[in-house]
Amino acid sequence: MVSKRLLSHLASLHSEDGIVSAYIRLDVRLLHEPMQPLMKFKGAVKRFLRQEPEGRWVQALEREEERISSFLERWRDGGRGLVVFSCTPADIWEVVPLEKAAIPTHVSVDTVPDLSILARVADEYPRLLTVVVQRDRARIYLAELGRLQNVERLRTLVPGQHDEGGWAQARYQRHVEEHVERHLRRVVKELQEIRQETGFNRLVVAGPHEVATRFLELLPADLHRLVIGRTHVDVKHESDDEVLQDAHRVWRQHEREMEKRLVQELLDEAQGGGRAVMGFDQTIDALLQDRVRMLVMADGITRDGSACDSCGFFAARDLQECPVCGSEAFPTDIVERAIERAYLTQDAAVEVVFDEAREWLLARGGVGAFLRY
Ligand SMILES: [Zn+2]
Repeated sequence: MVSKRLLSHLASLHSEDGIVSAYIRLDVRLLHEPMQPLMKFKGAVKRFLRQEPEGRWVQALEREEERISSFLERWRDGGRGLVVFSCTPADIWEVVPLEKAAIPTHVSVDTVPDLSILARVADEYPRLLTVVVQRDRARIYLAELGRLQNVERLRTLVPGQHDEGGWAQARYQRHVEEHVERHLRRVVKELQEIRQETGFNRLVVAGPHEVATRFLELLPADLHRLVIGRTHVDVKHESDDEVLQDAHRVWRQHEREMEKRLVQELLDEAQGGGRAVMGFDQTIDALLQDRVRMLVMADGITRDGSACDSCGFFAARDLQECPVCGSEAFPTDIVERAIERAYLTQDAAVEVVFDEAREWLLARGGVGAFLRY
């Protein structure tokens, strides 16, 4: 999980011997090709050496190359991407697999890990918190991209429904309601803490109608705007698994709807001559001018082209020589160069779309961008 905790751990790493940061984008079409991660890494190393042919970081990269290579040779877990941080003298070795990652293949070396891309990915990564609220307890689950992971379970008891103390019924009932109210407020507080820790950005509230409704009323605005749906739970008859399956159905639907809206907006803007472009050539032009606010891509898309490592120019065609600076141009997957450019030079968001939204986008070239101006 790309948690805040992981990021702050990575941010604390430091070595004067040089930490190699290797981002590897995995092409879904090539998942049957076991050498893919290694080949991508080798390509990125070559690009690094063309940009920085000498200096102390070259030695650091040469030192770590073998270790990273033999790890990548054995990588069989798929996913959309992989990030490796390595520095043998400082005993640093960290691997972060990514499921829905729009990362480029990119290698860099410095005294600290290069978190510029990972931090952005972590920001955008959908994380779902499901809270099941009942009168006498609450269960909280955190999931990242479909993988269920129970992070916290909170249970608070309130007095039973049957009066044993001989109170007047009305007064006793009020007593119970106060406990329920206190319990729900405590759950809200817990959620605020979990939000700080994990940065969850989607929330589903499950539970019996009355309790869930009251709970939603108690949520402060910053949590309320994360609510993507609620599910009714018959607490007596539904297992945790069933509750979570329901929540995940809500989640998937929400993500797909958001993606469709995004692509529709992109099409409307681009067609209306607004601040958006579609297709490889126009998108690359905008990226080279550092005008992109958000890059939008169909999942799994790749495109061969050429790039210049001296000035950063790239294009969706075969070039021997860079038309801008005259240096040698090399064949590359320009989707990776586009993502790299979006992250590293213009602080743009990168969105990947799936299913129906993906089909819509593929029909228009598979890639587009919202522009800053
Ligand atoms: Zn050039």
